[in-house]
Amino acid sequence: MENINTSDDIALSLSNIHFSYHSPLGEIKALENITFSLKKGEFLAIVGPSGCGKSTLLNIISGLLEPEIGKIAVFGTNSKTSSDASVIGYMLQHDHLFEWRTIYENVTLGLEIRHEFSEENKERVLQLLDNYGLSSFIHKRPSELSGGMKQRAALIRTLALNPQILLLDEPFSALDYQTRLMVSSDIGKIIRQSNKTAILVTHNLSEAISMADRVLVFSKRPSTIRKEFPIKLTITDDSLLAYRNAPEFQSYFNEIWEVLIHES
Ligand code: ADP
Ligand code: MG
Repeated sequence: MENINTSDDIALSLSNIHFSYHSPLGEIKALENITFSLKKGEFLAIVGPSGCGKSTLLNIISGLLEPEIGKIAVFGTNSKTSSDASVIGYMLQHDHLFEWRTIYENVTLGLEIRHEFSEENKERVLQLLDNYGLSSFIHKRPSELSGGMKQRAALIRTLALNPQILLLDEPFSALDYQTRLMVSSDIGKIIRQSNKTAILVTHNLSEAISMADRVLVFSKRPSTIRKEFPIKLTITDDSLLAYRNAPEFQSYFNEIWEVLIHES
């Protein structure tokens, strides 16, 4: 029997996860023996070579795919899959807003589908829109918003169901460099302030180090956890670039890069 961590302060626990795709061309082994747990409120970043199995892992955690071997526990509840969307919020790699709906109709789509259009949920969405500078855009269509605003709207749509665990799959990759810096800083703050547990998959090492409490480096396929880096940055304020200017930042960057480069 695998030991699975179900203690009180653990939000998510993965034990010995294996996964392969089966196609007419043969078997593609994506994940091998992935084991880690996440404390409540912890922010984890996953980096690894393209095609190593990062999105596959998020699909498994969200319940879209079932692991071949292994166990997942969400808040101590053992489950083969963990498909309760109100516990887990998933922002997919290509999570587009629908052009035929207004921003308000987009961010409330999940609530509508799940028949959870309560006053409390509506209130939370309006508050999020207000907090993140989108109040005056609620009647606009997605194409009328900047890339950064659209990304914030997609995050609000994910937060609307008040999930306790957030899965973010390369959420900033469509943004230009400056917007990416601003939006990742914004979104990092949103997640910290709301004390969510989060997993961020990113190609951007600086982003991983500045946003996360811990970085996991995945190997090339079949992916295993190559190394784990707890991140502790000394910062005096939480302004836009403070995390990247922390004295420890560069040495984390170099250490993680050293591991990552051998996997690419
Ligand atoms: P990453 O997100 O790390 O870039 P993915 O998890 O998307 O990687 O994919 C891992 C591997 O599995 C890749 O080699 C990819 O080609 C393969 N793969 C992904 N989805 C499928 C699928 N539906 N059928 C077959 N192979 C797939
Ligand atoms: Mg991916």
